[in-house]
Amino acid sequence: MEEHTITFLALTDNIIYKVPVTDDGELDAPTQELIQYFSVPNEENQEITTIKILQQNTQVVRSKINEIVEKHKNGNPVLKSLPSFFRKLKSDEFFFFIPLREFNELEKLMLYDILKSKKTGENFEDYHKQTLKRFQNFLNNYTLSIFGSSRLKIGEFKRTKRRCRFCNNSRSNTTFENKAHAIPEGLGNKKLILFEECDDCNKEFSKSIEPHIIEYLSFFRTWFDVMGKGGVKPFSGKNFNMGSHEENKILEIFTNELEQIDPTKPFNLTFPGKYPVIPQNIYKALCKFFISVISSDQLEYFQETIKWIRGKKQIKKLPKVALAFNKNPIIQPEIRVSFRRDKNENLPHAVGEFCFTSISLVFIIPLSSQDKKDFTDEVDFDYFWSFFHHYEESVKWSFKNFSNETPNPLNFDFNFTGWAT
Ligand SMILES: [Zn+2]
Repeated sequence: MEEHTITFLALTDNIIYKVPVTDDGELDAPTQELIQYFSVPNEENQEITTIKILQQNTQVVRSKINEIVEKHKNGNPVLKSLPSFFRKLKSDEFFFFIPLREFNELEKLMLYDILKSKKTGENFEDYHKQTLKRFQNFLNNYTLSIFGSSRLKIGEFKRTKRRCRFCNNSRSNTTFENKAHAIPEGLGNKKLILFEECDDCNKEFSKSIEPHIIEYLSFFRTWFDVMGKGGVKPFSGKNFNMGSHEENKILEIFTNELEQIDPTKPFNLTFPGKYPVIPQNIYKALCKFFISVISSDQLEYFQETIKWIRGKKQIKKLPKVALAFNKNPIIQPEIRVSFRRDKNENLPHAVGEFCFTSISLVFIIPLSSQDKKDFTDEVDFDYFWSFFHHYEESVKWSFKNFSNETPNPLNFDFNFTGWAT
């Protein structure tokens, strides 16, 4: 079924959701009503209406939104999050209502800059010049391709002509019978299919590296209702169970620590996971996603990387991985691929970004034949990051070391704000 994207975007918060389109190209009723409400007649020809995409959060707008949501909430559950979006916004705050369009990063930044200039009354051009400078620095040095939001079948279509990207058909009797996902289906990927991954490599990855990244992201997988094979997965650790009951998330905790807690004040709890995780295998899985989506003429640079992903080569120290949480969880996982434009050896040749629900992980692809440095040195890494730091200023990055090769259960740290007595 075809879908359209609806965006409500403000500085305080934003909501992006998909709506179905019928076979006749008709939008669903609530979307039609929203478009009609936010449209104004054309000044020259009153019969034509134009959508006024820049709006303000007034009492009138809020009541109209509530009215539309009340009327249609049973048909479209995602609508129910609209009133809470409007409650979060400040009174009279500017927001964009943009139906039927998706945005790239650069366009989103422009919209934010318009909102910022509306808020402060300062010149939009000034804001935007600074943003472009920041982003241009990155785009002058790197290409950027994004995979995940649209359906894509990667590689050679004909089974008999396929070459596995990972083992190069070196196994005895290479077959391509099973559907291989560029990103595991267990992480919600339904759109990226890789033709060039043989059945044996597929099976091996599903045992060797994928369980580690799935466990690492399990909390988010359950929290954001990511649909894997067979629906939403509950998540449990040594002393907790997390799942859903109707529309609520339920977190069950089994620990004596609760007795020492004053529930009226904020407190922290640590929950140990159940399964041991090897940090380096998480890094390998990220690089496997990257190798799965790049074009085949790029593969020659990553032959050593592939050996390492398959466990045929060792790396003692990996570059850091940058991690951030976005306000805007995405539904389909995304892999972003960047290649250095020239031969500047002070920058890594290839960089990936994996976006899953509200998490972003930025990682350098190790062992590219086009790199002289490995970017494990602080100074080298910081230089790289100064080029890669083109995200919104509000995004806070932390840096993780995934070099460790010993299996250990993860610790999930939770900060609670307390609960009412
Ligand atoms: Zn293979």
